[in-house]
Amino acid sequence: MRHSPGDFSVELPEHPDGDVDQIVSVASRAFEAWRATSLDYRIERLKHAQQLLISNKDTLAFGIALEIGKPLTEAIGEIGAVIAKVDLAIGDARKYLADVSESDNPHANVIRRRPRGVAGVIGPFNFPIHLPHGAIVAYLLAGNTVVFKPSPFGQNVCQLYSDLMHQALGDVFQIVQGGANVGQALVAHASVKSICFTGSVPAGRAIARATAGDFFKDVALELGGKNAAIVLQDADLDLAAASVADAMCLTAGQRCNATSRIIVDARVEAEFVDLLRAKLCLYTPGDPTLASTKLGPLVSQAARDRYAKAIEQNSDWLVRGEVVESADGKHGYYVTPAVVRISGNPQNCELFMHELFAPVAVLAPVRSDDEAITLNALSDFGLTTSVFTQNRERFLRLANDIHCGNVYLNLPTTFSPGTLPFGGLRDSGNRHPGGRGFIRFASDEQVLQMKA
Ligand code: NAD
Repeated sequence: MRHSPGDFSVELPEHPDGDVDQIVSVASRAFEAWRATSLDYRIERLKHAQQLLISNKDTLAFGIALEIGKPLTEAIGEIGAVIAKVDLAIGDARKYLADVSESDNPHANVIRRRPRGVAGVIGPFNFPIHLPHGAIVAYLLAGNTVVFKPSPFGQNVCQLYSDLMHQALGDVFQIVQGGANVGQALVAHASVKSICFTGSVPAGRAIARATAGDFFKDVALELGGKNAAIVLQDADLDLAAASVADAMCLTAGQRCNATSRIIVDARVEAEFVDLLRAKLCLYTPGDPTLASTKLGPLVSQAARDRYAKAIEQNSDWLVRGEVVESADGKHGYYVTPAVVRISGNPQNCELFMHELFAPVAVLAPVRSDDEAITLNALSDFGLTTSVFTQNRERFLRLANDIHCGNVYLNLPTTFSPGTLPFGGLRDSGNRHPGGRGFIRFASDEQVLQMKA
């Protein structure tokens, strides 16, 4: 039996592993009828699903807070984004699924988009509904059917979400519960023609390997990040410190786009660190189901053990973090934010190079813009970077040399309103499934040419 990460006295039911073969067959059988429907009909079904999600938004948000430890205000934000996503995806569907033709072709022609078949969507724990849901609605609107495998850490709240979706949509939407083995069986299934995976690099690699032999099977990957805030000498330091603290502590640092590196001009380091310390004091661990909580627990014992080891193994802490046994009278996987100053070769610094997925950042002082860019490039990831400067031209110059999918000026690395494309480069993924426009990937182009 699992328990809530923010309250060990709350036990969470566990769902048995689903039968991938049987569930994919149901989705497969539903495909022919669904692909024959009009876009208007599919929009109507999705709008019905949206209504059910709206009616259950408080239960869903509370479920996320209880099950993965995300603070309630953030969980409410996640469900708000889920509801809004339906309308954004409908806008994308009308824009990208429309037939087009080329006038300079010798024959009349139509370039149209067709669904692929059954899509497998595998979700992470930290946005257990919002991230898979973005892909799910895009796939469904494009005429595919979907099998959703949620994170085992969010299985109950995802089951509730799935029951609501199923109620509105019927067999075209299916859920299969389980862990990595079930995920592997889903991606390897011959009837699954498109995959959207959000999670860690090792799991992404395992999926890429398992699907490499099937050229028709598309794989979209949203993976990790090692995201820097670059604070230049001319920055508004108070804004930079507030943004860094927030982007370190949202979801207790368990976000792909969390700030885990701070690259700061050495001339303003001392002033910036003082401001950051003051901002981080506002993030004390608390019960995630309370509206007042800004910093919830980590998701699991393993995550807390990794955090404790990192605190133990590093020295030169600017803000020393600690494991906290209880918050608001509840036992859970609580920890405090931590900032360590880099020492030695950054490439040998585990915390500088790899995701820890906790509210911990490494600070590295630099003496020039070039040094900041070089240091930032020392990572296989390429998700987000924020630059803090009062000079937009300087930002645009730097952005040219920042190999990330998302680069921000004077905004936190976690900034991602859902109204634009979002996704990573290099080891952070491909195809940008996290934001606008994913529907293009959820469908195939077919070209018709007609001689008069
Ligand atoms: P995870 O990789 O452990 O698990 C994610 C999902 O994949 C789960 O449903 C899990 O059961 C499944 N899974 C694990 N191994 C698998 C395999 N071999 N084959 C098929 N499925 C498998 O990740 P997590 O701990 O849930 O999430 C954290 C990770 O996700 C971090 O690395 C984070 O950066 C990343 N993430 C990225 C984004 C993004 O938008 N780029 C967003 C959220 C999370």
